[in-house]
Amino acid sequence: MSNVSSNSTGSNNSRARVRVVGVPRRCWCGEGIIALISKSDPNPYRRYYRCGFAASNKLRNDDHTFKWVDEALVNEIDTLTAKNIEFEKHLKDFKTERLEFEKIVDEKMEKEIFEKIEDALAKAKASNKKMMVIIVILCMFMIGCSKLLG
Ligand SMILES: [Zn+2]
Repeated sequence: MSNVSSNSTGSNNSRARVRVVGVPRRCWCGEGIIALISKSDPNPYRRYYRCGFAASNKLRNDDHTFKWVDEALVNEIDTLTAKNIEFEKHLKDFKTERLEFEKIVDEKMEKEIFEKIEDALAKAKASNKKMMVIIVILCMFMIGCSKLLG
């Protein structure tokens, strides 16, 4: 019975030793994972994940996936917590980047608006001067006319 696993241990050992973090989805052998309840004395009624192939063939001391459900879930929570921390850090970075970007945009906008106002003011000043010149000429013309008439 154990000849199946002992024949294949040589090449498969290293693959099985790679620890699966969290809930295993599939055994290295390609077989799906099933959840079972332990009937052993040291771990009565403890749930575990097992390679479907190994479970149906009742293999023992093999390399196929075996993992306690509670340990897998603790792993999963640890991974999620780590991911969450990482995500929060990313979010913070992103927010800082956005703030900096907005600051740059604000500064640029401010500068552009300032330039536009200055430009408009300069134009207004120029047209004012023109208007003044026209008014002065008109006044002089009118004064001239009134002098001619008087
Ligand atoms: Zn397997």
